[in-house]
Amino acid sequence: GSTIGVLGGGQLGRMLALAGRAMGYRFATLDPTPDSPLGQVADEQIVAPYDDAEAAKRLAERSDVITYEFENVDAGVAGMLMSESYVPQGSELLYTTQHRLREKRAIEAAGVKVAPYREIRSAAELREAVRELGTPCVLKTATGGYDGKGQWVIRSEDEIEQAYETLARAKTELVLEQFIRFDKEISVIAARSPRGETKAFPAAENIHVDNILHLSIVPARADSEVLAQAERMAVRIADALQVIGLIAVEMFLTRDGELYVNELAPRPHNSGHYTMEACRTSQFEQHVRAICNLPLGPVELLTPVVMANILGEHVAPLLEWMGDEAGLPEGVAAKVHLYGKHEAKTKRKMGHVNLLTDDVEKAIGWVEQSPIWRS
Ligand code: ATP
Ligand code: MG
Ligand code: MG
Repeated sequence: GSTIGVLGGGQLGRMLALAGRAMGYRFATLDPTPDSPLGQVADEQIVAPYDDAEAAKRLAERSDVITYEFENVDAGVAGMLMSESYVPQGSELLYTTQHRLREKRAIEAAGVKVAPYREIRSAAELREAVRELGTPCVLKTATGGYDGKGQWVIRSEDEIEQAYETLARAKTELVLEQFIRFDKEISVIAARSPRGETKAFPAAENIHVDNILHLSIVPARADSEVLAQAERMAVRIADALQVIGLIAVEMFLTRDGELYVNELAPRPHNSGHYTMEACRTSQFEQHVRAICNLPLGPVELLTPVVMANILGEHVAPLLEWMGDEAGLPEGVAAKVHLYGKHEAKTKRKMGHVNLLTDDVEKAIGWVEQSPIWRS
C-alpha cells in the first residue's frame, strides 16, 4: 500500500496513523523524540529535528504522500518536501496560518468576520490602537503562540508599555485585537479534497481552563441556525483558502448570535477528537481521505458527546477509574484514549475521554464531580 509520511510525531499524528492503517496505509514519521506517540505505532520513524533537511529528504523518499501534524513547519523544509515528494496541502496554507495578520486578512478576504485588529510596530502605535479599539484588548505575537502564550490582555492604558516590552521580546510582529465579550467559544473542522469536495463536522462548544481545552460539547448549546451558519463559515474559509485536508476554525459566539473567527489550524484539532466515536467519520479518517483524494466520509453526529481532555495531573486518577462503567450515570458511555506519552507532566496533553451520552448535561455533570479533573 501507499505510505503517508507525517512531519511531527505527536498525538495528532498517532491518531491519524491509527485511522489510516485501518484504511490500508503505511506510516512514516519524522520527530526529534524517539518513541514519540506516532513513532510507537508507525511503520518507520526517523528521529531528527524538524528542520534537518537530510532527515526530511529521507522521509520524502519513503513517502508517497506527506502531511504534517503541527503548523510551525519550517518554510524551507516545506519547500524541499514539495520538490522531493507529494505534499497535497502545499505550503501556502502553512504560510498563511503561521502568522496571525496574514491569517486574519485571508479570513476577511473569504468574507468572514474577525475581531477588529491592528498591526502593531511600536509602543506609540500600540497606544494609538488601544485608544481606537478600547480596553480590554488583547496584544498577541503574530507567530509562535499556543495555549495562550505570547498574549497580554490589556485592561488599562497603564499596561501598554509593559505589554509592549514583554511581547516585543519575541522578535515577531504584534497584533492588537479588540476583546470580544463572547458568550461561548465554538469550533468547526472542515475538510476539503483536491477534487473540491468540502464538508464540515458539527460545531463543538469548547470550554478552556487556563487557556487549555478542557471540554468539547456536541451538539453545542446554542441556536441551531447560528451553528449552521458557523459550519457554513468554515466551509467558506476552506474553499476560499483552497484548503486540502483539514482546517479547524475557532470562533467566538456573542450573546446576540454574532460570530467572529479567532484563529485557524490547518490540521486535526483537539476540539475534533469527539468525532472519533461520535461521528460517522472521524476527523483523522477524513484528513486521510482528503489528502489521498478519496471521497470524503459522512460527517453526521451519531450521538451527543462530551470530550474531556486528560492532562498530566489527571492521569493517575484516570488509571484508577479506567472507564469503569460502575462510576458512570446511566445513558453515558466512556471511551478512553491515551497517547502513549511517557512523562505525565502537569498541563501536558496525555489523552482524552469521549463520553457518549443521551444528554450532554449529564456527562458534563459527571466530569464536574469526578475526582479525575479535580486535581
Ligand atoms: P491555541 O492553544 O488555541 O492555539 P493560542 O495561544 O493560539 O491558543 P488564542 O486561541 O488566540 O491563543 O487565544 C486563547 C484564548 O484567549 C481564546 O481561546 C480566548 O478564550 C481568549 N481570547 C483570545 N483572543 C481573544 C479576543 N480577541 N477576545 C476575547 N478573548 C480572546
Ligand atoms: Mg493558536
Ligand atoms: Mg486558540
